[in-house]
Amino acid sequence: MEKVLAINSGSSSLKFKLFVMPAEEVIAAGKIERIGIKDSRVEIKYGLGQKYEKVEDIKDHKVAVDLLMKLLIKLEIIRDYMEINGVGHRVVAGGEYFKHSEIVDDEVIRKIEEIQDLAPLHNPANLIGIKAFKEILPYVCSVVVFDTAFHQTMPEENYIYSVPYEWYEKLGIRRYGAHGTSHRYVANEAQKLLNQPLKDLKLISCHLGAGASICAIKNGKSFNTSMGFTPLAGLTMATRSGDVDASAIAYAMDHLGISSIDEMLEILNKQSGLLGISGVSSDMRDVSQAARAGNHRAALAGQIFERTVVDYIGQYIAEMGGVDGIIFTAGIGENSVSLRAHIVEKLAYLGIELDAGENSKRGINNIISTPNSNVTVMRIMTDEEVMIARDVVALEASQAD
Ligand code: AMP
Repeated sequence: MEKVLAINSGSSSLKFKLFVMPAEEVIAAGKIERIGIKDSRVEIKYGLGQKYEKVEDIKDHKVAVDLLMKLLIKLEIIRDYMEINGVGHRVVAGGEYFKHSEIVDDEVIRKIEEIQDLAPLHNPANLIGIKAFKEILPYVCSVVVFDTAFHQTMPEENYIYSVPYEWYEKLGIRRYGAHGTSHRYVANEAQKLLNQPLKDLKLISCHLGAGASICAIKNGKSFNTSMGFTPLAGLTMATRSGDVDASAIAYAMDHLGISSIDEMLEILNKQSGLLGISGVSSDMRDVSQAARAGNHRAALAGQIFERTVVDYIGQYIAEMGGVDGIIFTAGIGENSVSLRAHIVEKLAYLGIELDAGENSKRGINNIISTPNSNVTVMRIMTDEEVMIARDVVALEASQAD
């Protein structure tokens, strides 16, 4: 039995889950927010519904990690640091260097630093967390798990853009995808529901949350995915535009007097998607409520979101030459009964049939299509953190061999 921390470190935040492995039991979870900003907030849930909350100034990630470890002892979640056997860190972009998770060493850190322009908001923040834990827990096995790694199996024809090929050769511009840890996790759960090994399956995983992406998974490997060079591409998202004709962007910059591309990227990342179309909110629950109250733009935002999901499902069925299972996961995919029903309705021409009773159940992984359905549709709750903890345990074991 060992204890493993799964860490998601942002520029001013540190989220964690502490697992007992291999049981995969979560014994503590929480976050430290507003690091480096006045009034940082610490929140830890543990034990049988206990909660620790405090507001205090935390000047940087090293102080945050130090505080977290001391709190784990003070709250009697662990007795001493030696109880932590491994730490796994989420890293957003792994470029072409990382095809799977890796144990952290100087070379791994150098490579993550080298490609940080691929995720300028995320990778430097992820690195701060990795280095802070290395200082506080220098002897503990540290592992990096990349959002992009799962998609490194995509064939060339699915990741090269139709732009001058030198862009790829000289600058590494290509489709990298994201949400790989989630797609990998739900595919693994799907094989259990389908009672068939991944190597025999064609799956389409729909990760529909604030960030949203779809992945075609053929024989257990990512075959195609909707996100691109960065997580801005693909589906309509909470505040991200998804796919847009680049000429429209140049035209809008000319006519709206936007002179900086950074300002435009901020609009495409933070003011577009559900928020931009509806003008109401980036949160699907608010958008749906406004649509029910008769707000046309809110209804339109929901319709466009669904249409982009159906577009990619159709595309991936054609590209894989069929599909055995379609998975809905993440905030919207797991919780919105109506969204799943609408999408399955649009796929009825394929002989896909919804089981309305199963579709309305909550809080479980289940099959939501009827036994007669040509394709099995599933709702699966994603768990990226447990995937990180599993990778830590697997890499530790391989190191010991
Ligand atoms: P995530 O990024 O995975 O946490 O997902 C966040 C999104 O899930 C937000 O847009 C929420 O509005 C959406 N969401 C959560 N619960 C529901 C629900 N019951 N119905 C529709 N959307 C939901």
